[in-house]
Amino acid sequence: MKITLAGAGLYGRLLAWRLAGQGHRLTLLDPDPPEHGHAASHTAAGMLTPWAEADGAEAQLVAAGIDSLQRWPALAADLGSEIDFRPGGSLLLAHGSDVPELHRYQQALSAAGHGGKSQWLDTSAIQDLEPALEKRFQEGLFLPDEASVNSTRVMRTLHQHLSAQGVSWLRYRSADFPASLPQAARDADLFIDCRGLGARRALPGLRGVRGEVLHLHAPDLQLKHMIRLMHPRYKLYLVPRRDDIYVLGATQIESEDRGPVSVRSALELLSAAYTVHPAFGEARVLKTDTNLRPALFDNHPLVTLDDNLLTVNGLFRHGYLLAPLVTELALGLINGRALPPHYHWMGARSSTAATQQVTA
Ligand SMILES: Cc1cc2nc3c(=O)[nH]c(=O)nc-3n(C[C@H](O)[C@H](O)[C@H](O)COP(=O)(O)OP(=O)(O)OC[C@H]3O[C@@H](n4cnc5c(N)ncnc54)[C@H](O)[C@@H]3O)c2cc1C
Repeated sequence: MKITLAGAGLYGRLLAWRLAGQGHRLTLLDPDPPEHGHAASHTAAGMLTPWAEADGAEAQLVAAGIDSLQRWPALAADLGSEIDFRPGGSLLLAHGSDVPELHRYQQALSAAGHGGKSQWLDTSAIQDLEPALEKRFQEGLFLPDEASVNSTRVMRTLHQHLSAQGVSWLRYRSADFPASLPQAARDADLFIDCRGLGARRALPGLRGVRGEVLHLHAPDLQLKHMIRLMHPRYKLYLVPRRDDIYVLGATQIESEDRGPVSVRSALELLSAAYTVHPAFGEARVLKTDTNLRPALFDNHPLVTLDDNLLTVNGLFRHGYLLAPLVTELALGLINGRALPPHYHWMGARSSTAATQQVTA
């Protein structure tokens, strides 16, 4: 098939790569350069943490996340080691007065049937797992199956694969996809819309949810696992990357302001990191980043095929986690396979109809 795809974030790149690999001819449209731009996919911390989401997300999203996480090793192997896939698990911690938060979270996990996936740790078990933390925490919860990837490297690797496959990349903003297109992209058998927030006109109710992250260089610290700090007001995470870099995040604010990280957010995130380990006091802030998570009214992903238009959107805060699953579902639709019954909730009708109702 000849395929025109708009939006070269994570989903546009993944689908283009898979489809080009199947022998289809792809044209990719995006106004931004491949290395940086508006895509939320450039900013994501890359956590693949379905159980840590169990606190706020619905059961069906957590189950989809677990399904997707199981598919990540195969995807990571196909993409190559450059993406820094780290399957080492994550550690949830709380300071003295916040320890009840940890217990409450563990109860929520057990009530959802996932209690067996977590391990309670005492001070010495925490120290065995993360020697750098010494005896700073009395209790912790370890989620051994959780993982992470380096989102910057995933985006770069996908771009390299697409270039090697000869996929044409046009710097073009398609405001009304697929109605208005450049000549080279007009004549296609299939159109794919992965424009994230750029698809507002097509998806009423689509909104951006602001998230802020900081990249820290902390060579005096050797943390091996993702760390989440339980706190009633904000849920801090620290995601280790290569070369002593940690991604510290993230705020979640119902705002479409793309402006720089606020003083308040920086203060809260940095002071929380400092309470995890004082060595963060000497860390250097390499970069701050703000972006908008593309979300529908129900915060569910949307995967639909209407005639010859495939739409993938609404990945909210789970785009990386759900990537292998949602990509497979989308490819299945293209190849004539309907969404499996347990994933009907990602399908068009209910979400779009409800979105329109809410907007009306
Ligand atoms: C701070 C933050 C932290 C996050 N952390 C995580 C995490 O740890 N784990 C996780 O699973 N998820 C995380 N996410 C969520 C994840 O980043 C998103 O769910 C995912 O990146 C969405 O991918 P996408 O390809 O659908 O959209 P995007 O990445 O937003 O890509 C959309 C693309 O469409 C292009 N575009 C827009 N308009 C047009 C147009 N008119 N024509 C052509 N192209 C257009 C844009 O330039 C962009 O390249 C995080 C997000 C943020 C903001």
